[in-house]
Amino acid sequence: MKNQKQKEDITIKQAQEMVDDWIKTTGVSYFSELSQLAQLTEEVGEVARVISRTYGEQSFKKFDEAKKLADELADVLFTVICLANSTGIDLTKALHKNLAKKTKRDKKRHTNNVKLKMANDQKDSER
Ligand SMILES: [Mg+2]
Repeated sequence: MKNQKQKEDITIKQAQEMVDDWIKTTGVSYFSELSQLAQLTEEVGEVARVISRTYGEQSFKKFDEAKKLADELADVLFTVICLANSTGIDLTKALHKNLAKKTKRDKKRHTNNVKLKMANDQKDSER
């Protein structure tokens, strides 16, 4: 049970270590940064495909039906972690720094966004 819990709750640092272990034991080595970028683009496209067919007007093709958003997002996360690991980026530090930047930059931007308020009011009225 404890092992199951450990698998569910992991830090970003642990995720980076898990991916690094997987690459070294199963993936052999990291692809070049350019190959990883191509892979990331491909995986983001797969997320777009699932979202388009789930929430947009497109219907699923037979071979797309098994594709799940969670798995495609995990593919994107895996690829981002690979890119961070192979370029020496600590994603925990990077995320803290990035959120601090966004908080400072966008402190009032979203709360003052009339279009966002109208969209939320519309959603509330539909409930
Ligand atoms: Mg994928």
